[in-house]
Amino acid sequence: MTTIGDIGEFAFIDRIRRFAQERNDVLVGIGDDAAVVRCGGEMVVVTSDMAIEGVHFLLDRAAPKDIGWKVAAAGVSDIAAMGAAPKYIVLSIAAPPDCSLSTLDDVYAGIEELARGFETVIIGGDTTRSPQGIVIDVITIGETIGGVYATRSGARSGDLLLVTGHPGRSAAGRHAQEYGQNASELIRAHYRPVPRVAEGQWLAQHGSVHAMIDVSDGLAQDAGHLAEAAGLGIDIDSSEIPLADDLKEYRAVRNRSPIDFALYGGEDYELAFAADPVEIDKLCNDFGTEFELPITVIGSFSDHFKGLRIDGDPLHKCGYEHFRAGSD
Ligand code: ADP
Ligand code: MG
Repeated sequence: MTTIGDIGEFAFIDRIRRFAQERNDVLVGIGDDAAVVRCGGEMVVVTSDMAIEGVHFLLDRAAPKDIGWKVAAAGVSDIAAMGAAPKYIVLSIAAPPDCSLSTLDDVYAGIEELARGFETVIIGGDTTRSPQGIVIDVITIGETIGGVYATRSGARSGDLLLVTGHPGRSAAGRHAQEYGQNASELIRAHYRPVPRVAEGQWLAQHGSVHAMIDVSDGLAQDAGHLAEAAGLGIDIDSSEIPLADDLKEYRAVRNRSPIDFALYGGEDYELAFAADPVEIDKLCNDFGTEFELPITVIGSFSDHFKGLRIDGDPLHKCGYEHFRAGSD
């Protein structure tokens, strides 16, 4: 018997593509951060994210409000990666009968807090009993700005790879909490990631941005998705990855490379995108006048090889993958 664990999350998603019929109102189907459909004359953007007690969160470690914030942030970030605006959340919950009401109230409060910050409202959901542990499923629905959206595919050979902000802080925060390290800002980055909604919309509107993804599984893996979607290779220059000061300092305590947290950690919810090299100065200047968040060139796309290289060395896709031994 072959199991889902044998093949892993991404091979499984590839397998189920055959059940998803193509139709001309489905503009983007399985394989991107969110689907884009033409519905009632409008373009609608939809994504779904789950968080399971014992897999994604532990109630004795995370505050219920933070759990709620984070699962909502994952969905809003996928909408941001399409360059769209989040509008609605459909929220389903499964809980064992002895689950405390105040825990569930707090999960909802966290979801609502994140949603309110992005003018997104909860419009419904489903409630059911779970045999064990809380399961949260968030469907996030958004709209495009003027019919424009970004996809994971579309990078061209010679394009530059850029990232917003300072990746790696969330994974370092998770590590810090697990090992009882005093790094409250990193731990906060882990529990309260901020999706880059305005930035994603702005970038998608810019003609020089050819492809985009949010960094939920680590830069290596998510950049790998951009390369794969374009049928190209990416070489990341690890020395260019922008590291926050607190992440650099954290290395001094843990003797672990901050670059590793950025490349193989996850849940930063920064955006990684491909941009035309000819217009890169203008893009960076224009972005800089609009946002305080930095954007940094960290690599380039090439048609001379496929897959991911780091500092010229080929690397198998790493990062967070469910079902794989070693993933947690
Ligand atoms: P992200 O990390 O951006 O949330 P995922 O890796 O979860 O993206 O999903 C990648 C793509 O696979 C998305 O288009 C998603 O809709 C699709 N997908 C994931 N799981 C399933 C499933 N069980 N059935 C159908 N599509 C799925
Ligand atoms: Mg995503």
